Amino acid sequence: MAKQEDLFKNVISHAKEYGYIFASSEIYDGLSAVYDYGQNGAELKKNIREYWWKSMVQLHQNIVGIDASILMHPKTWKASGHVDAFNDPLIDNKDSKKRYRADVLVEDYAEKLLQKAQKEIDKAKKRFGDAFNEEEFVSTNDRVIRYLSQRKEILERLGRSLTNEDLVDVKALIEELEIADPDTGSKNWTDVRQFNLMFGTKMGASADTSSDLYLRPETAQGIFVNFSNVQKTGRMKIPFGIAQTGKAFRNEIVARQFIFRMREFEQMEMQFFVRPGEELKWYEHWKETRLKWHYSLNLGEENYRFHDHDKLAHYANAAADIEFNFPFGFKELEGIHSRTDFDLKAHEEHSGKKLRFFDPELNENYVPYVVETSIGLDRMFLAVLSSSLKDETLEDGSSRTVLKLPAILAPTKAAILPLVKKDGLPELAQEIIDELKWNFKVQYDEKDAIGRRYRRQDAAGTPLCITVDHDSLQDKSVTVRYRDTMIQKRVLISELASIIDAEVNFKKWMGNS
Ligand code: ATP
Repeated sequence: MAKQEDLFKNVISHAKEYGYIFASSEIYDGLSAVYDYGQNGAELKKNIREYWWKSMVQLHQNIVGIDASILMHPKTWKASGHVDAFNDPLIDNKDSKKRYRADVLVEDYAEKLLQKAQKEIDKAKKRFGDAFNEEEFVSTNDRVIRYLSQRKEILERLGRSLTNEDLVDVKALIEELEIADPDTGSKNWTDVRQFNLMFGTKMGASADTSSDLYLRPETAQGIFVNFSNVQKTGRMKIPFGIAQTGKAFRNEIVARQFIFRMREFEQMEMQFFVRPGEELKWYEHWKETRLKWHYSLNLGEENYRFHDHDKLAHYANAAADIEFNFPFGFKELEGIHSRTDFDLKAHEEHSGKKLRFFDPELNENYVPYVVETSIGLDRMFLAVLSSSLKDETLEDGSSRTVLKLPAILAPTKAAILPLVKKDGLPELAQEIIDELKWNFKVQYDEKDAIGRRYRRQDAAGTPLCITVDHDSLQDKSVTVRYRDTMIQKRVLISELASIIDAEVNFKKWMGNS
């Protein structure tokens, strides 16, 4: 555990040191759970967004993209259910003054029971060796049975209380289980109350005429309200999708995991409209397609797993998360939801406008069903950054820190390095940059010895270093050094564009998945 915490701390400090992520308004001591992307972070984020957009919109003839506004008519959020149901149950500890999500406190307690059961299983496994029958042990060992049934009971009771909005019982559960403040051990709790996660704001100049609005808590609703606009003007036929990337805002109760849980974040969402009855087939299709997208980036297939939801949201008839192995364990990275016709129907009711599709093959008018893929751009950023950061020991015993970002996502594709700052080498390096910059983000670096410059570019995640030396002036060749293998090759300057392209080509990355 300590090791994992260290790794996470390393990621956070590396992100700052190399211009990826800063605390928001840091000179004023920052703003809780709000972050700014620096010069490298903005590039990496843009490249992830583009990789998603191209694979969704450019590669699919039946998916188009939009860019809806953050502010929407307030009835949108009544129709979507967010005004009434976008709540988390919160509880305060009266002694420590710390605030927690009541459901998470109970879930963490239940998780500990699972860990205790697992410990018993592991112990027995060791004792019995090859003869160990896990299934039999789990169904007969008193302790394991007790831990697991207690866990099941607790989670079922929590689920029931939350569904019935019985917050008194959630508090009773916390007291019965004697759950203490994880930081201080105090059991002196307030009552549990619902907390709506939407940020409110006002539109208009005068206090009397201004209206109450919300900053959108998800981008999806901007797609639903534009369903007919896009379908008609784009002459889209079902099945078809609408994609969008953009900011969303949630006033999260507990936001302590760097850019994993932010109050202002960005989503990349796609709503796929299908015939009623075909939604589960498309749900399976998009689960598989999205997982392939993740695999294409080579962050390690073992770092992903599906988690099917037991408790479905009010709008869904199937839902799964793609979880990623973050430095603090497997957590949700992307959600794939079969949202039925809930949203379009609700908007029909609240707006009085028809949101339907005339299906010429069926000769029928219907409200389409929806399968959604929804991924947090910032969480994807954290997944990429944390799994790419490596400390390596080299053959000569020295060590290096290297950020093995997928080349297609790297902020800078190549650094152009004149061996010395004189003899015409900087000028030739500049000529190379002037040629390459039209197609690739490249960077000039002449400070320090060449070895240190390589290390700096390794740590910043630059896949290629191109060194210009005295021979380059005569033979029109340079040395290319590859970040991951550290292999060096002598190549003609005229070949550089195609060498970089081979590393960052979209078809090479996405086409192989
Ligand atoms: P969680 O259970 O972690 O709160 P969620 O189930 O509420 O997430 P969704 O409403 O399904 O999340 O949102 C879709 C995606 O948006 C998530 O998979 C996640 O990647 C991203 N996301 C949601 N909330 C946040 C947040 N506060 N900060 C960063 N990304 C977020």
